[in-house]
Amino acid sequence: MDRNSQQTLKRNRHEETRFLSAPEVARMIAERGLPQCLQGVAANIAQDFLRWKSFDKSARLACHSRDGVIELMPIADDKSFTFKYVNGHPKNTAIGLPTVMAFGVLADVATGMPLLISELTLTTAIRTAATSAVAARALARANSRTMALIGNGAQSEFQALAFHHLLGIEEIRLYDCDPSATAKLVRNLERSGDAANLVLTVCSSAREAVCGADIVTTVTADKTNAAILSADMIEPGVHLNAVGGDCPGKTEIPPEVMALAKVFVEYEPQTRIEGDLQQMPTDFAVTELWEVLAGRNVGRASDAEVTMFDSVGFAIEDFSALRFLRDLAMSNDVGQSIELIPSLEDPKDLFRLLQPARASQAAIAASVVI
Ligand code: NAD
Repeated sequence: MDRNSQQTLKRNRHEETRFLSAPEVARMIAERGLPQCLQGVAANIAQDFLRWKSFDKSARLACHSRDGVIELMPIADDKSFTFKYVNGHPKNTAIGLPTVMAFGVLADVATGMPLLISELTLTTAIRTAATSAVAARALARANSRTMALIGNGAQSEFQALAFHHLLGIEEIRLYDCDPSATAKLVRNLERSGDAANLVLTVCSSAREAVCGADIVTTVTADKTNAAILSADMIEPGVHLNAVGGDCPGKTEIPPEVMALAKVFVEYEPQTRIEGDLQQMPTDFAVTELWEVLAGRNVGRASDAEVTMFDSVGFAIEDFSALRFLRDLAMSNDVGQSIELIPSLEDPKDLFRLLQPARASQAAIAASVVI
């Protein structure tokens, strides 16, 4: 076998880029089952949080504009590098686009070769709900059975099903300032065979929804310092899963509520800028979730304590989700191999790629002269 054929063979074996479109990922997840996928992504997230120190971490890079934000979220261990492109534009739904849209890449650290490029819009909802469940398993009271779910948009069904299947939540009390969003959530969960044993209670205010709830999930979208909860709505022992405040100037939980809680975060340098935490003094104490999962720090200290997970979404969760998608796609042979990186007979001869184009241009020029 000559050198060129050997190189081509090497590339075929190790260096193809697999592309996973949104319909392919949706089909794969529907076939595997959403509860199983939430379970699988949560297991990867818990595993990767336990390997916290093996990752090269940084806060995400954000470009802000009047109505939203576009962000890049990179992270790497010694084998794989991943990044996610994601936006947050709360007014998008009025023009028929989702508030959150995303895609991501997984690359080989040893060579830099991109191995996977995938949709991550649907996957972000799954990984966000899985992360919320991992945090709540560590922080909420073990006998939690009722959850309030405030904000019933694109992320909400995933949060509902993650808490039902991964934590044993039996009743969800729903509220959204847009009643049609709540009606959509109820319709989707009633049609889905995954929520047969879940009681859904539609409420007419956030106050009514949180009354008697063991866990309160807030997942609203508004580019403002909103106050979804007030201090007099917080009952002893409740766990707050605050998902929607994830950008400077975009928060849900007011400072007087945060002051009542023991607050847990993903990656402190990022959450200080983006989380509900941005409203608190810089010396307000928080604990990183990985420390609780690794047994290095205490989570909930008593049944009466109020705990809060100030979720903003951290790159390690997308790393965990991308490796889940890669494994699922490979075991089901889903996706297409794309030539994202040029295939070169001689890797030092990049210029050669232009030569066929030049040859055909020369032929065209010659035919014009004739
Ligand atoms: P969405 O626009 O589809 O839904 C948001 C819902 O919140 C809407 O139905 C809206 O009517 C409702 N809402 C707005 N203000 C409200 C209020 N004051 N009271 C009650 N309901 C209110 O958005 P989505 O894709 O579901 O995302 C929700 C939020 O979660 C966004 O802010 C997004 O940026 C955030 N998010 C966070 C993470 C994370 O990892 N923490 C991941 C994904 C999305």
